[in-house]
Amino acid sequence: MEKQTIQPFLSVANYHLIEQQMNKLLNAYNTTKDRNVLLAVKGLVETEIEKNIQPSDVQLTVIEQLYKMKDRTQAELYLESLKPFVIPFKKVTTSNLKSLFKKEKKLKLPNIESIDFRHICYFTWHDASTHRKYIVVEQQGKLKAIKGQVEANTIKGICAICHHHSDVSLFTTTKKGKAIDTFKKHSNYICSDSESCNRNIADYTRVNDFFERVTE
Ligand SMILES: [Zn+2]
Repeated sequence: MEKQTIQPFLSVANYHLIEQQMNKLLNAYNTTKDRNVLLAVKGLVETEIEKNIQPSDVQLTVIEQLYKMKDRTQAELYLESLKPFVIPFKKVTTSNLKSLFKKEKKLKLPNIESIDFRHICYFTWHDASTHRKYIVVEQQGKLKAIKGQVEANTIKGICAICHHHSDVSLFTTTKKGKAIDTFKKHSNYICSDSESCNRNIADYTRVNDFFERVTE
């Protein structure tokens, strides 16, 4: 079958997984010439990718080219060639955002045009004047949203969304409790740089788990 007829089958997180595993492979080539070590790393990379993506036979023809990568230039071209197979994050419009945050007074909307939806696992922006951070996730094809206060200072720590060690800031969401006038707060450290946070996510369940946790 021709490659062009293969429909998009990679989630954004899958694409990041491939990128991360490819870096692992290239690092191995840069640090050792030991054939057995290289074969072992290759084996681990293959297992990790195929376990998470579970490609069909035709999809595998696209993926398995990765295992042949030996240098950065080749790898970058390969990653570029994968882009047509990525299912982007559900397109977000200004009116989507207005309705998702309809209770929010003076909502300052982000510049949606500048977002590459093939690279995000969640959509977020930050209003520096109010220290509010808005997060939109996709669950079963539907957009869901949360907002919270984000502290300006950062520390080194583990991000509650991507689970990577990075510069993180405290993000606090407030939810109305069951009894009148009660509130439930959730505070989590999350990456200050949401672009790199998104790029760290190689497993979408992390985004879902985070969302479930702060909205429970
Ligand atoms: Zn993160």
